[in-house]
Amino acid sequence: MTDIDASKKELPQKCALCEKKAVRAFRPFCSKRCKDIDLGNWFTGKYVIVGDEEHEKQVEGEVIPLKNE
Ligand SMILES: [Zn+2]
Repeated sequence: MTDIDASKKELPQKCALCEKKAVRAFRPFCSKRCKDIDLGNWFTGKYVIVGDEEHEKQVEGEVIPLKNE
């Protein structure tokens, strides 16, 4: 079952950090600020360290999406 594709695609998504309405450009976050904070969590070792943004794109398939709902 792929319930994260068609069904949720157009629904407003909550920010993964502050639970405000997420913005498409920054999803799953509401703003660049929340996205940066989350990225900071990666750097501080809260999540799996993946390196810089460029490297993150290269290992995109290995990164586990934050889907803690
Ligand atoms: Zn937010």
